Amino acid sequence: MSFDSLGLLAELVRAVKAQNYNEPTPIQSQAIPVILEGRDIMGCAQTGTGKTAGFTLPLLHLLSKKATSKGSRPVRALILTPTRELAAQVGESVDVYGKHLPLKSAVIFGGVKINPQITKLRHGVDILVATPGRLLDHVNQKTVDLSSVEILVLDEADRMLDMGFINDIRKTIALLPKERQSLLFSATFSQEIRKLAGSLLKSPVLIEVARRNDTPELVKQQIHPVDRERKRELLSHIISSQNWQQVLVFTRTKHGANRLVKQLEQDGISAAAIHGNKSQGARTQALSSFKNNSIRVLVATDVAARGLDIDQLAHVVNFELPNVPEDYVHRIGRTGRAGNEGEAMSLVCIDEHKLLQDIERLLKRELPKEVVPGYEPDPSIKAEPILKRRSGFAGKKPSFGNAGKRRTNGSSSAPGGKSKTFGKSRRKNPGKVGASQGFRSRGK
Ligand code: AMP
Repeated sequence: MSFDSLGLLAELVRAVKAQNYNEPTPIQSQAIPVILEGRDIMGCAQTGTGKTAGFTLPLLHLLSKKATSKGSRPVRALILTPTRELAAQVGESVDVYGKHLPLKSAVIFGGVKINPQITKLRHGVDILVATPGRLLDHVNQKTVDLSSVEILVLDEADRMLDMGFINDIRKTIALLPKERQSLLFSATFSQEIRKLAGSLLKSPVLIEVARRNDTPELVKQQIHPVDRERKRELLSHIISSQNWQQVLVFTRTKHGANRLVKQLEQDGISAAAIHGNKSQGARTQALSSFKNNSIRVLVATDVAARGLDIDQLAHVVNFELPNVPEDYVHRIGRTGRAGNEGEAMSLVCIDEHKLLQDIERLLKRELPKEVVPGYEPDPSIKAEPILKRRSGFAGKKPSFGNAGKRRTNGSSSAPGGKSKTFGKSRRKNPGKVGASQGFRSRGK
């Protein structure tokens, strides 16, 4: 199937071709015709499947086809995303695909000044991409009018619920016209998501492209058993000996992310961290340095990394396994995107065996394990508990993190994580990076 056969405007097909997309991805070929018909959809698709273009292209088509009211330019399409980074990425996609159309878009999220957003909104915006908290700040200040929204998109709805945005979402929906088209995308379909979909969508078409909780096929997964105190050393060794230039590394905690960045830099590997305690400026800076290859390693926590789209990212490393097995699927979905091959490596110490079992149970398969020569786990080391504060609060407002602050300081920053480990610092200064020890060669 080609993009020409989907019935999209020539301007959109031209923009897509300029991106060198040869053919629609499965979510695109299924969702685009249905959205063009004006139907609601419930799309089960992870990031990396091309879902952004799957809803953005038909949305741009529909808005261009219908006449706009003269004079003022009301918001006609609203796209809600859980994180600032995802909002920025969706906003970029809207710009790229809508390049040849006379539609205007804006992205609004917290953590940055509100006034430039107000000015932009005042000049008129057809498509608004927003995180829920900052959008409601604008609603309260009466700087946005949602009464003319024709199309609503909830992107990564499962994560929005995990992050405690359900009330904000419901408040927002109450401000929209009843007569509208609604599109809901989620990587997983929990009971809460189904409930939300039930109250939001009218006779939706269900589109499912990846099996629930499946990992992308093109991602090669590998577990390296290693002692907890030698993980950093092994990571530096692999990055250096394999000459990896761009690797996304996950830690469980913000503190752990900061510490790992320092240690990697001591090893001469440029790195930056991205997590909820960083200012929006620092997050944007870290992400762009990573994307333009001025740093080699981006260390991220789960919430911060959710939805990140980095072209051709070849390597993802789980420095620590996530407490929630579904997060493993989300993490490794950062690589192997849109037909490219990727590699996901997990450094697993004795404390994490239970977490690994949970992941394998979820995936319904065992993951390949390979001990790196020179990094054999010491059998005399005993497992230590991984401290969990609270996990799996899907659909409920978290009672920790900056969730409460968000409403008072006017920022729509991602509040807290799905689960948190308030890990004690167990890692002492680990030894020097070992020499290359015949680690299996891997392509970049
Ligand atoms: P998404 O799942 O929307 O985050 O998209 C993942 C990546 O796939 C992005 O980098 C897109 O630019 C890319 N992409 C989207 N559609 C296609 C396509 N039809 N062919 C190739 N790449 C695509």
